[in-house]
Amino acid sequence: MLNKPKRKSQSVRVRELDNLYKKFFWNKFDFDSCYTCDDKTVPLFWGHFVPRGSKLVRWDINNSRPQCFECNNELRGNIEEFRIRLNKEVGPEEVERIENLKGKPIYKGFINNEEERIKGLK
Ligand SMILES: [Zn+2]
Repeated sequence: MLNKPKRKSQSVRVRELDNLYKKFFWNKFDFDSCYTCDDKTVPLFWGHFVPRGSKLVRWDINNSRPQCFECNNELRGNIEEFRIRLNKEVGPEEVERIENLKGKPIYKGFINNEEERIKGLK
């Protein structure tokens, strides 16, 4: 009997996409300070406005910005400040679009689509 090639679990694929996306993210923007408090403390972390558990916006360019450890971890994303700054940067309609995707389930094929999209990001 032929063995079917083992498919990667979703969590493995999510981690692979994280790595792909982060390469783009850190290259694309010349970040030198925390998005939500302007601290120039290094290192910076991959911070999210809507937490990355919401996979529909996990790799959304308007949902992630660099944050210091304090904002990212201790302040759990410093979300109120994140919202204020994101509103100014991308506009309230875009912020609302992102927030509306919070907690929504992914659809069939989403991970494949994202992989293709992220590979094409420059
Ligand atoms: Zn900060």
